[in-house]
Amino acid sequence: MTLACYACDPAQSRGRHYPQAPAPTRSEYQRDRDRIVHSTAFRRLVYKTQVFVNHEGDLFRTRLTHSLEVAQLGRSVARSLQLNEDLVEAIALAHDLGHTPFGHAGQDALNDCMRTFGGFEHNLQSLRVVDHLEERYPQFDGLNLSFETREGILKHCSRSHAQALALKEPGGVSQRFLDGTQPSLEAQLCNLADEIAYNAHDIDDGVRSGLITLEQLEDVPLFDDFRREALAEYPLLQDAAQGRRLLYEATRRMLTAQVYDVINATTAALRAAAPTSVDAVRQLPPLLQFGPAMRLQSQALKTFLLHQLYRHPQVMQTMDQAQRIVHELFSAYLEQPQEMGEGFMARAQAARDAVDARSSGARVVADYIAGMTDRFAAREHERLTGVKLL
Ligand code: MG
Repeated sequence: MTLACYACDPAQSRGRHYPQAPAPTRSEYQRDRDRIVHSTAFRRLVYKTQVFVNHEGDLFRTRLTHSLEVAQLGRSVARSLQLNEDLVEAIALAHDLGHTPFGHAGQDALNDCMRTFGGFEHNLQSLRVVDHLEERYPQFDGLNLSFETREGILKHCSRSHAQALALKEPGGVSQRFLDGTQPSLEAQLCNLADEIAYNAHDIDDGVRSGLITLEQLEDVPLFDDFRREALAEYPLLQDAAQGRRLLYEATRRMLTAQVYDVINATTAALRAAAPTSVDAVRQLPPLLQFGPAMRLQSQALKTFLLHQLYRHPQVMQTMDQAQRIVHELFSAYLEQPQEMGEGFMARAQAARDAVDARSSGARVVADYIAGMTDRFAAREHERLTGVKLL
């Protein structure tokens, strides 16, 4: 496949922290993707949730299926823009590796626990997973991924965290948050593919769970226009028994429209800015984008989902319990590090001798909890407190 001059070329990669000889049959980004797929953190994504807790139903999205959907959407846009599909796939599959159990509720709770110890951000944690926490190689910790994959994984980062990272890796993946520059187009694409994917699958999961209805969605033009279009073309979908097919047909049309909108808007932006290299892309404003109308419509859908689904009393009730689990696990392990898994117990012991013993110890606990699946966290909580919450 021909790559555009503004795409990431694996032959021009800024390389890995620990230099390694090239693989005979795979490009550097294909190699990154394969390392991610074989990682422990990737396998755990199947038991981590986005909106619904894993045991609430077998058909709801998990972080694994979400990541696969992001990779699919990202690759199809990448192909038509002549971007590097392999890099997009690697970033998409890794983008949620640092997520805690119980979705955003878990992350908020852990961030709260870590408030005086440097906080907790899931994007930063995804980078920690691939840089440090995976233990698969005799020569180094982490997966030793290439710069461009790591750059895409670190999607957001606060200034203070960026400064701390830049001390360890001068001019590295956190530098752009200090300079106000952009990542590669492949990384920008993964952010947008993430948004397109969860907007669509949260409608799907939300309707199938019964927490939101197709009638409520009539207030959301991005969805409702396609629902009407589908009904006009297939009047048999009026039948209440066809509700599921109507939902899928409208969602499919919405996804397609968003993909084409991104391709068209980005093609126009690329034509206007005419970058001739990845480094030129990094100096420009974000080029991977929705057109203005779609941007507003996508925002309206996000707002709808926030109020009607993510803050639905039933979701909130589960998430309150999830937050309690995270808080209580954190306190329990901080007091009794011997209750953590073997490797973490050893790290907690080593942390006692560190200059910043308290925050190093807390970071070990945060790493341990962040790696948990929903059900393991719930089970551990019950084991340590005697209280069954989820
Ligand atoms: Mg995501």
